[in-house]
Amino acid sequence: MDGCLFCQIAKKEIPAAVVYEDDTLIAFKDIFPQAPVHLLLIPKAHCSGLADLTPETAAAAARIPQVAARLAAEHGVEASGWRLLSNNGADAGQTVFHLHFHLLGGKPLGGKLCL
Ligand code: AMP
Ligand code: ZN
Repeated sequence: MDGCLFCQIAKKEIPAAVVYEDDTLIAFKDIFPQAPVHLLLIPKAHCSGLADLTPETAAAAARIPQVAARLAAEHGVEASGWRLLSNNGADAGQTVFHLHFHLLGGKPLGGKLCL
């Protein structure tokens, strides 16, 4: 989608530290990491969030947990633990409106998902 930051990253129009890519998914390092391991996993095709899935983006998104587990292992947090989450909408704090999942790990992440 025109003007979408993560579409531009997926198309390599904007640089990112890409750690995984296949036909329909791409993963890259978060530019403002909140943990020693902080990756973003996105479908290459645009959708704004989980309420906006198309058959194409749903099929890509369905593969994200498996890719995340592989990336967690590759980044050394398989044993220590990691978190996969997606913010959807204003109350969740979504700031980039292209569906993405945060993979976080490398430190204790706390027992609460919200304050
Ligand atoms: P959210 O707040 O869930 O929408 O997450 C958006 C994430 O995108 C934030 O953690 C940002 O740090 C991250 N982000 C913003 N711009 C970039 C960028 N150019 N490259 C990598 N990550 C980015
Ligand atoms: Zn997009």
